[in-house]
Amino acid sequence: MMDHADVVVIGSGGLGAATAFYLAQRGVEHVVVVDKHDLASQTSPRAAGMLSHARSSDLMVQLVQLATKNIKRFTADTGQPLAWTQSGSLKIARRAEDVAVLEGELERGRRLGLQVERISPDEAHRLHPFLHPDGVLAVMRVGDDLYFDPAQVAIGFVRGAEARGVTLLPHTTVTRVRIDHGQVAGVETDKGTIRTPTVVDAGGAWTRQVAEASGIRVPIIPTRHQLFVTEPLDGARADLPMVRIMDAAVYVRPCQGGFLWGGFEAAPRQLDMDALGATFHMKDTPLDAGVIRGMGELVQRQFPMLLTAKIREHRGGIPTMTADGQHIVGPAPGARGFFIAGGCNVAGLSVSPAIGAALAAWIVEGEPPLDLAPLSIARFGAAAYSEERLKQEAAWRYHHVYVSM
Ligand SMILES: Cc1cc2nc3c(=O)[nH]c(=O)nc-3n(C[C@H](O)[C@H](O)[C@H](O)COP(=O)(O)OP(=O)(O)OC[C@H]3O[C@@H](n4cnc5c(N)ncnc54)[C@H](O)[C@@H]3O)c2cc1C
Repeated sequence: MMDHADVVVIGSGGLGAATAFYLAQRGVEHVVVVDKHDLASQTSPRAAGMLSHARSSDLMVQLVQLATKNIKRFTADTGQPLAWTQSGSLKIARRAEDVAVLEGELERGRRLGLQVERISPDEAHRLHPFLHPDGVLAVMRVGDDLYFDPAQVAIGFVRGAEARGVTLLPHTTVTRVRIDHGQVAGVETDKGTIRTPTVVDAGGAWTRQVAEASGIRVPIIPTRHQLFVTEPLDGARADLPMVRIMDAAVYVRPCQGGFLWGGFEAAPRQLDMDALGATFHMKDTPLDAGVIRGMGELVQRQFPMLLTAKIREHRGGIPTMTADGQHIVGPAPGARGFFIAGGCNVAGLSVSPAIGAALAAWIVEGEPPLDLAPLSIARFGAAAYSEERLKQEAAWRYHHVYVSM
C-alpha cells in the first residue's frame, strides 16, 4: 500500500469518485480512493438516476446546470459509457399551496435560463398518456431534466480516475483520519496508514462515522429510500417525461420499457449505521414493499397503472438527510485539509459531477469556483442540533422533498 498521497478520497460512490476524477483531471498527481467495499457498489448504483433542475435556490440550479453539462460530456471526459435521456419532466401540483411553489420555481427557472413552462393538465396527459389529469391543479414542464443509468456514474468516474493515475484501494476500511494540531496528517486504515494533508470524506451513509472518529460531527441522518421497477408495458416509451407529484412526493420515470417509481413517505425509516454493524452492505438494506405500495395509493387517481403493473425489481439504499434538505460540501471547521461531500438528500448522484468538480477546484485553487457557503457545514452552528430534533427535521425534509427542494 502506498504510504503517502496528496489527497485521499474516502468512498468511491458518485461523490467521492467524481472528486477523485476531477482532481486527477486538474493534474493532482497522487490521489488515492479508499473504499471498504467493492468500488462504486453501495448507494450510488441503486439510485433512480433522475436529475431535476427545479430547485429552491439559485446556487442549486447553477450546480445542477453544471452537473448536466458534465453528464453530457461524461464519455468524452472519462472514456466510460453513460446512457442518459433528456426526456424532460412534469411537476404536478394537486393543492393550491403547491401551485404557489411551482410559480416560484417557474420564475427562478425563467430567470436562470431553464426551459420551463406552465402547461395545462390536459396537455400533460397528451405528453404522458399514463398520467390522468383528474385532480391535477397545475403542471410545470422542465425541458432540461434528464435521467441516466445510475449504475454507470460512480464506476465511470472511478475508471476514468484510474486511467489518469489515481490509485484505487477497494476492500480497505478507513478507521480514522489523523489530525495533528488542527491539520489533517494522515488516514489510518485496516491495511496501514497513508500520510496526506488532505482528505475528502465521501463515505455516503457512513460519512458521519468517518468524521466522528476524528471528533467532527456531521449532522446527517441515514434514511432508507426504495423504489420499484415494473415489467415492460405497452406505450412506456423512454422519452416520456419524468413525473413528480408534489404533495404525495411520488416520482415516476421510464425504465427498460416499463417505469421506475418510488416516493418519500411521511415517516421514513432512519437507520443507525453503527447498529447495522461494520460489515453492513447496501444490498442488505431492509426493504418494505408495503411502503411503496402505500405511496402508489396516494396517486392512484393520476397513475392507476402503478398499482397494477408487475414489479420486476425492488431496490433501495441509505441516502442521508440534513435538517434543511441541502447538501454538506466543503471544509470542516477546525480541521485544515478535511473536506466533506455528503448530506445527499436523495439527490447526490445527479449533482455529483458538479460537486466533484467544485470540490476538486476548491482543493487545488484554495477557494471554491462559486460561492458554496450555503452548503457549508458551518451553517448548522457550533451548538448543532440535538439528535432528536435533527431526526425530526430530516424526516420532514424527506417527505417534503418536492415542495422545499
Ligand atoms: C432508491 C434510491 C433512489 C435514488 N434516486 C436518486 C436520484 O434519482 N437522483 C439522485 O441524484 N440521487 C438519488 N439517490 C441518492 C443517491 O443514490 C445518493 O445521493 C448518492 O449515491 C450518494 O453517493 P455517495 O458517494 O455519497 O454514497 P455511496 O455511493 O454510498 O458511496 C459511499 C462509499 O463510501 C464507502 N465508505 C464508507 N465508509 C468507509 C470507510 N470507513 N472506509 C472506506 N470506505 C468507506 C462505502 O463503502 C461506499 O462505497 C437515490 C438513492 C436511492 C437509495
